[in-house]
Amino acid sequence: MENKAILIEPGVYGYRICPQWLKNNFRLAVKYTCPRCHKQESECGTLQIHRKNRGCNGGLYTVLPLNHPKSNCDIDCRNCHGLLHANEYPNVKSK
Ligand SMILES: [Zn+2]
Ligand SMILES: [Zn+2]
Repeated sequence: MENKAILIEPGVYGYRICPQWLKNNFRLAVKYTCPRCHKQESECGTLQIHRKNRGCNGGLYTVLPLNHPKSNCDIDCRNCHGLLHANEYPNVKSK
């Protein structure tokens, strides 16, 4: 599947699928440590990128720093990510 950068608004690009380089940028930005439980990747596995606005709602992986007000991305470990979604939609699995 094609994964081209999509212009969301002037100066803000996003992707439907998170490119590896963007994932790596985010992981480096948090020093490979989950911001929620403060575990390192060596303990909790490779960090995952979460979209605040779901993919099913058209949410994209924005090319912006994580703390940017327009960023649609968040990062956490597999466990925290799972909990995040479990709290939001108890019966729906989504990424
Ligand atoms: Zn975590
Ligand atoms: Zn998520």
